[in-house]
Amino acid sequence: MKLYEYQAKKLFAQNGISVSEGYVAVDEEGAKNIASGFGGDVMIKAQVLSGGRGKAGGVKLARNSEDAAMIAGEILRLEIGGYKVRNVLVEPAIVIKKEIYLAITNDRERKCPVLIASGAGGIDIEDVAEQEPDKIAREYVKPFMGLCNYQVRNVASEIDLPSRLWPEFVQIAMALYDAYVENDATIVEINPLVVNEEDALIAVDAKVVLDGNALMRQPEMRENIDWGAGQEYEIEAHRLGLSYVALDGQIGCLVNGAGLAMGTMDIIEYFGGEPANFLDIGGGANEEKVAGALRIILRDDRVKTVLINIFGGITRCDEVARGLIAAMNEVDVEIPIVVRLVGTNKDEGLRLLEDSDLILADSLVDAAKKAIELVKALGKDDRYEHSD
Ligand code: GDP
Ligand code: MN
Repeated sequence: MKLYEYQAKKLFAQNGISVSEGYVAVDEEGAKNIASGFGGDVMIKAQVLSGGRGKAGGVKLARNSEDAAMIAGEILRLEIGGYKVRNVLVEPAIVIKKEIYLAITNDRERKCPVLIASGAGGIDIEDVAEQEPDKIAREYVKPFMGLCNYQVRNVASEIDLPSRLWPEFVQIAMALYDAYVENDATIVEINPLVVNEEDALIAVDAKVVLDGNALMRQPEMRENIDWGAGQEYEIEAHRLGLSYVALDGQIGCLVNGAGLAMGTMDIIEYFGGEPANFLDIGGGANEEKVAGALRIILRDDRVKTVLINIFGGITRCDEVARGLIAAMNEVDVEIPIVVRLVGTNKDEGLRLLEDSDLILADSLVDAAKKAIELVKALGKDDRYEHSD
């Protein structure tokens, strides 16, 4: 779960890290007012959940408030990394003497947090790692010890940071580590952390990715964060107790049980189809869960059909069927849905579904084949329509 730059900066500021502080605007007028409030040069920065905004023209300097309005207008019309820009952050521009990279993330091989820093900040750290791996310093953190002072000084020395800046650098790295631990983040990154004209260290950019699986421990985040396009569904899935992972295919899957969900995806692929997601609705299949799951699946307009595969054990098939019928009445479904229902009270369940618009399948193989046929037929129709 990614935070926007302005949200990440707020979090860093709460932990005592100096950030360039600005305000968010949604239109030219707003940007103009903020800029005139600051006076002087301001940066106009696209707020999207994607990096590389600078390269995409989403980070620009404005000389005055008129200029700020014009540039904000341009940036608000951009699409960066697949995201429409809906907000811009307007901040006083900082005169930069040096750009540093500083981050904390999980090292999956060593199974611990790692502090990463580089004197070659501002640019993509992946590029630095590839072209000049020597310019990246790392310190691995023992979780029960926490980040130690000497480790940060090691890193400061390795990236040739002038020693007069070390105390401040240590304070920032420590605060960053706290932010990482307290918020269950998987990465906290400042790129660039800059040395300004007064020789102070300031976070000019901020990136925070939270561990979605730990969100139940972060009620404040869960409630108060503006999750932005494409992320609300993750929150909704958590709320309903669903495990959902979006994929690239056209066949949406709604399954009870993680193993069965994997099996369903395998069978779809085996017969030449592509699953659009992994979705385990867990035990029980009441109306709220099924309706919520359908809504989440259908948000993705690449989904051309949905395959519902339910194994009735403790959850009885008739119960599931009632849940499905109720959910279908509640959710706006415009695509075909194939259902395979098996297990306890199967016959009654199927009888309930007979009069519905759902396409019933006898087996998982049958269901997968039907779903794949539907996708293919749709594809042909599309081509037919566009060919004249
Ligand atoms: P990103 O491209 O998405 O990583 O966006 P950043 O916020 O990191 O901005 C990209 C680059 O713009 C930075 O690396 C800086 O070089 C430059 N930049 C951003 N803010 C300022 C600023 O206040 N003053 C100056 N001089 N440059 C800035
Ligand atoms: Mn950056």
